[in-house]
Amino acid sequence: MSESLQTTIQTTLGPREISALGRTLIHEHVLVGYPGWFIDNRMPRFVRAEAVARVVDAFQQLHAYGVKTVVDPCPMDLGRDVEFVAEISQRSGVTLICTTGVYTEAQGIPFALRHHELDAVCDIFQREIEDGIGATGIRPGLIKIATGDGAVSDYERKMLTAAARVAKRNGMTLLSHTENCSCGHDQIDIVTAEGVPASHLLVGHSCGRDDHDYQASLARRGAYVGFDRFGIEIFNSDANRMKNVKQMIDAGLRDHVLLSHDTVNCWLGGVPGFGDPAQVSQVVPNWKLTHLFENIFPALEAAGVSKADLEHIITDNPRRYFAHG
Ligand SMILES: [Zn+2]
Repeated sequence: MSESLQTTIQTTLGPREISALGRTLIHEHVLVGYPGWFIDNRMPRFVRAEAVARVVDAFQQLHAYGVKTVVDPCPMDLGRDVEFVAEISQRSGVTLICTTGVYTEAQGIPFALRHHELDAVCDIFQREIEDGIGATGIRPGLIKIATGDGAVSDYERKMLTAAARVAKRNGMTLLSHTENCSCGHDQIDIVTAEGVPASHLLVGHSCGRDDHDYQASLARRGAYVGFDRFGIEIFNSDANRMKNVKQMIDAGLRDHVLLSHDTVNCWLGGVPGFGDPAQVSQVVPNWKLTHLFENIFPALEAAGVSKADLEHIITDNPRRYFAHG
């Protein structure tokens, strides 16, 4: 099944035709809560109705730029709330796709999974795919994998292996978190060892450094490469990211580029390292859903990237990535 073309994908509002997804952002968070988010009672309270209104407004602004679909790759252990995501989708008109899978060992909740055998972890992912997440009936459209900085831990290797097995069994697509442009090739190695083609994997956050050789090397193995943190200029500048995207296009690797911001549109509790989420926008003022369309696309065009290239990257690449073709 995994070898065949996929024609539909699960979204938080049910299955949709992949051909109709339109302009797509591949990695944006509707809501995130790091493990233990509830401990710090100095942080603003989560008031659901207010949060819904604020996040719907942000996604409606994105919709006005013609973006019809967004992947929210929140792993199980970062406060995932798929009913909240579904409500944002319903009210904003943006199709939202959620994921199964887990985060890194350092920042997730490995205690809940470390002692399970590989087969049990597979079953946990499989159950979400077949029956939906918790009691919601909402099914994930992709599987999230994650590795930390520098090396893949034993725990992460087990989670990646389980994710790859379940992806192969169900013909599903994989989307990853990496740190500091490391472990992308390890992710490809682990996934392909389980029989999943590299082209079913997006190596996320591959724009964390000015490193065209690394980015191109992932694409040359067949993987998709995430330039998915536009606006987060504390890790790398957008100028570098734009330069690297243009280098990919000039190298004939346009088909492997996927774009996004990795925004978090609602925080449960504080932001690790920042505290109150209100502070974040002062440090990274462009970290918002519309930044690509307001600032980056015009700048890329001025640098010689064609409108057709940008439309191909934002519409055709996600479609091909989801369809496995
Ligand atoms: Zn993310």
